[in-house]
Amino acid sequence: MKKALQEAEMAFDKGEIPVGAIIVVNNTVIARSHNLTEMLNDVTAHAEMQSITAAANYLGGKYLKDCTLYVTLEPCQMCAGALYWSQIATIVFGASDAHRGYEKMGTQLHPKTIVRRGILADEAADLMKRFFATRRK
Ligand SMILES: [Zn+2]
Repeated sequence: MKKALQEAEMAFDKGEIPVGAIIVVNNTVIARSHNLTEMLNDVTAHAEMQSITAAANYLGGKYLKDCTLYVTLEPCQMCAGALYWSQIATIVFGASDAHRGYEKMGTQLHPKTIVRRGILADEAADLMKRFFATRRK
């Protein structure tokens, strides 16, 4: 999760909403990304979406059945849907998103996916707060 937070900080420095993600398999990081919706002018360029694509490319197969995603913020329903299709083994997220998180939206993950929440949540939430505070100025 520390590496995912580093990715979120890179997004912050670029003026992107600071969300970072990494995907790990067998203790090896196979994908790392951060939100790029502004740079790519693409609302689907969330950190998770890019990590899913990068991990599938790395593995040479579309399913991520042995992988763990670490993401600083609770996935939105779009990303949760993509994670459903990927059949990812484990999702570890930091801060919850009370407004746009998949749990609030009622989006289903894959039945085999294990979820852990609240890991380094304060750090992730603090980065989001600082980001939106600088934007309001
Ligand atoms: Zn998303």
